[in-house]
Amino acid sequence: MVTIQGSQLSDMNFTEPAEKRSPLKLLACKCPRCREGDMFEDKNPWHLKNTMKMYPQCPICKQPFDIEVGFYFGSSYVSYAFTVALSVATFIAWWVIIGFSINDNRIFYWLTFNALLLIAMQPYLMRVARTGWLAFLVKYDRNWKNNQPKPVERNNRDQQNNW
Ligand SMILES: [Zn+2]
Repeated sequence: MVTIQGSQLSDMNFTEPAEKRSPLKLLACKCPRCREGDMFEDKNPWHLKNTMKMYPQCPICKQPFDIEVGFYFGSSYVSYAFTVALSVATFIAWWVIIGFSINDNRIFYWLTFNALLLIAMQPYLMRVARTGWLAFLVKYDRNWKNNQPKPVERNNRDQQNNW
């Protein structure tokens, strides 16, 4: 009689872990679990009609992207953090390159520049905030070919993308 042990069975189905992907892939709005699949359907966030159109799940590793009701409400905190960080960065760059003085209006030029930059960057910031928010809860799994994504506990199709 031939018996197959559990460990042998899983060895037969085992696929090599995927090549290691850098966390910088998140800046390109890749799925946090495999860092390979795109989260958004249109690659260009400045196609404004499609900015927030997401795949329901990762096209590569099948990680669901809407993991609970109102999930992306929380991405506004990430967006806020990115906006502040970007403003601090332009403030410091302006300080070093152009400088600030109480005798002229340079600080207002910076304010205007920064406001226009934030508006121009908004479509990208909204996307990368969603990727960052999902990455808080979905960790990178280099072995995604063998592991299943965590099942979604509760969600509501009618209410998706309302946040
Ligand atoms: Zn994925």
